[in-house]
Amino acid sequence: MTKVLTIGEVLVEIVATKKGNGFREAVPLIGPFPSGAPAIFIDQVGKLGVSSAIISRVGDDDFGHVNLDRLRADGVDISGIEVDPQGTTGSAFVRYREDGSRAFVFNIRHSACGTISLTFENRKTIETCTHLHVMGTALYAPSVVETVMVALDSVKARGGTVSFDPNLRPEIMNSPGMREALSTVLTRTDLFLPSGEELFLFTTAKEERAAIDELLETGIEAIVVKRGAAGARYYDADQSLTHPGFAVEELDPTGAGDSFGAAFVSFWLNGSPPAEALTYAAAAGARAVTKIGPMEGTSNRAELDALIEGAGPIAI
Ligand code: ATP
Repeated sequence: MTKVLTIGEVLVEIVATKKGNGFREAVPLIGPFPSGAPAIFIDQVGKLGVSSAIISRVGDDDFGHVNLDRLRADGVDISGIEVDPQGTTGSAFVRYREDGSRAFVFNIRHSACGTISLTFENRKTIETCTHLHVMGTALYAPSVVETVMVALDSVKARGGTVSFDPNLRPEIMNSPGMREALSTVLTRTDLFLPSGEELFLFTTAKEERAAIDELLETGIEAIVVKRGAAGARYYDADQSLTHPGFAVEELDPTGAGDSFGAAFVSFWLNGSPPAEALTYAAAAGARAVTKIGPMEGTSNRAELDALIEGAGPIAI
């Protein structure tokens, strides 16, 4: 049976309740919410009943346990999350700007998840998995990059598959070795899930179709471009499909891309046709934005079916 693995930050997110330009003034906050892009991703995979695991580290504190409890309840194998009695669980503060963009303050590199490394236990977890999902945010420290690279080699050597969501945050793009690591991951990727400008990070082309062709020529099997409220586009060597997105009220967009990616990967791995995987992914992304808190909007199959059926036929 396919088992999906991801590696990286498990943290809590604290959300500013008023829009503005960051945190240089006092602002009411809500949280902590379980978070971390890899954690949201794997929670959504687990909720869809697909075998799933994550390698991470948290402190033995409430922020860590809030995540462990949620992921366990949603069916994720959390044996790869080391609880570090000396460490503190990571955190991210997010504030939405008036234009819809987000300002982040991250405490990742100097938290427990900044010390994820290639332990004997992590090697064992890697060996139980047949699909690796890499998130760009997770490449924030050399020891995490090393763990991801070993997982890439292991999964590929056993005939497994790799999906990759660059998920770039300007706040952590200056991490040592991150750009090189992103390029290396792309060369091993089967399913690429960029959002907006991320599509052009590794191409000379600056127009979508030309960039897609350039990437498909490198051996990537399929590309799904996320487009926020405008939906998503799927491409492979034979076809392209567009989903216009489901009409929902957006309360908090954080986590939409992670939930979308998780649903797409889950259906793709189970052999669903691309149109079906795209529909369920768009539904997962849409449901994600309707709840405040990045992991609060992950969905089970029945919830996705209800949204899809309620929306009626959508031409894709
Ligand atoms: P993030 O990095 O915050 O997780 P992202 O940029 O990777 O997000 P988005 O494009 O914002 O990803 O969202 C992923 C998918 O979720 C979209 O392609 C779309 O299908 C769905 N989605 C996002 N926002 C909305 C919305 N407001 N209404 C309906 N669907 C949405």
